[in-house]
Amino acid sequence: MLIGIDLGTTNSLVACFRNGKAEIIPNRLGENLTPSVVSVDSKGTVYVGRSAKERAMLHPLESASVFKRSMGTDREYVLGGWKLRAEELSSLVLRSLKEDAESYLGQPVTDAIISVPAYFNDLQRKATKRAGELAGLNVVRIINEPTAAAIAHGMMEQKDSRYLVFDLGGGTFDVSILELYNPIMEVHAIAGDNFIGGEDFTDVLYNLFLESAGIAPENLDLKTRSEIRKNAENCKCAFSHSNEVMMCCAVNGQMHILRLSFEEYERACAPLLDRLRKPIERSLRDAGVSLNEIDQIVLVGGATRSPVVRKFVAKLFGRIPSFGINPDEAVAIGAALQCGMKSRD
Ligand code: AMP
Repeated sequence: MLIGIDLGTTNSLVACFRNGKAEIIPNRLGENLTPSVVSVDSKGTVYVGRSAKERAMLHPLESASVFKRSMGTDREYVLGGWKLRAEELSSLVLRSLKEDAESYLGQPVTDAIISVPAYFNDLQRKATKRAGELAGLNVVRIINEPTAAAIAHGMMEQKDSRYLVFDLGGGTFDVSILELYNPIMEVHAIAGDNFIGGEDFTDVLYNLFLESAGIAPENLDLKTRSEIRKNAENCKCAFSHSNEVMMCCAVNGQMHILRLSFEEYERACAPLLDRLRKPIERSLRDAGVSLNEIDQIVLVGGATRSPVVRKFVAKLFGRIPSFGINPDEAVAIGAALQCGMKSRD
């Protein structure tokens, strides 16, 4: 059986092509997103996904995340006395996804198509392939993430067209301009910022809370800090269905409350939105196209669920982007559609 995998910086997903359609495969906890986090205790017990993410709060030195950034390098992560490189950590995530797919599908999974960022060089692509092999998978193809997202949004069914893929994940921002001259799809230009993502939008709330409570961040212990951050993350996501949020956290036995309207939050995010604009302008310049020559804007990455980001995109492009598919599932769906195409050769 062939599966499609979106091996993400923050979260990973697995999907397959069955009964004529792409299908996301839930993990053992019934969730579609598996955090790309690994934790290893001193006895060598390995935790992957949500359990590793939770363990990381209390055992940060035994846990690793965002290791996708170090793919193809010799950097070693030391977790509880165990030394692991990024591709080995990635292979643990891939193995966990493979096992989840096998138990969901009730059959062995042998082959995979894995997505990588369009800017990944040869070393990073080879490291991704090796990670798959270490996980017991035959990697039949590496696919570019924006290409997978565009496929999920039906680009292959169009006549010649031009898409802009706006991918804002947890910690990275990538813009790609794709051109389809049927049946060839080409990544025409890529630009990005490796140091901006959804986490920065969480930091805005975290900092507003500390400011309003008059607390200096250096006076917080690790546990309180991660509790406030978790709360900030929940409130950030709550803006998707509410115009006002309330953040309540106890610090040193005293309860602090921050009430914030969407407009106030949006204003505080202005410097971040400004940073998103630059790679967009660069990619258009590099591709030699103007905004009105783009046929469709595809949103990818969990952080594009944010109404602050959606409003910004709609205003910048003067139109509503394509919302048909969950932004955090588009790449996996595209990889699964590619599995379907591959099986039918
Ligand atoms: P990804 O790396 O694509 O899984 O994106 C993860 C990022 O998306 C994290 O920073 C999440 O906080 C963010 N995210 C997920 N859902 C929402 C939401 N409803 N509103 C704002 N940000 C979100």
